[in-house]
Amino acid sequence: MPQECIFCKIATKEIPVAALYEDEHMVVFPDINPVAPIHVLVIPKKHIANLLELSPEDASLVGHIVFTISQLAPQLGIAEDGFRLVVNTKDNGGQTVHHLHWHVLGGRFMTWPPG
Ligand code: ADP
Repeated sequence: MPQECIFCKIATKEIPVAALYEDEHMVVFPDINPVAPIHVLVIPKKHIANLLELSPEDASLVGHIVFTISQLAPQLGIAEDGFRLVVNTKDNGGQTVHHLHWHVLGGRFMTWPPG
């Protein structure tokens, strides 16, 4: 794990967050700079820089994460009206933290196309 990876530090609890869900593979916590009424981040505990860095053995991890997000949607209060799941990838995707993460955005209507 890169020494300065902020999401690795969250995964190891070196930086404390108010986790909404955690298991051996992943952590869900509020985004520090929310852009929607509900804005949580979902990270694997394993350091993976971005989607393009996934290896074949990570496929079940990704499935676990996306499935778990679907199961958490009711308690996040976004199941009824829906939500958006975003994975910004590298520069054109607007990725600034280079540890794979899913943005879960809800609580308002999301416009399309994104900026
Ligand atoms: P962007 O910064 O353009 O949204 P990313 O997709 O890489 O790009 O998202 C990183 C996200 O991590 C941002 O939404 C930012 O607010 C959030 N973030 C950065 N540091 C923390 C932190 N310590 N706790 C919670 N969220 C954080």
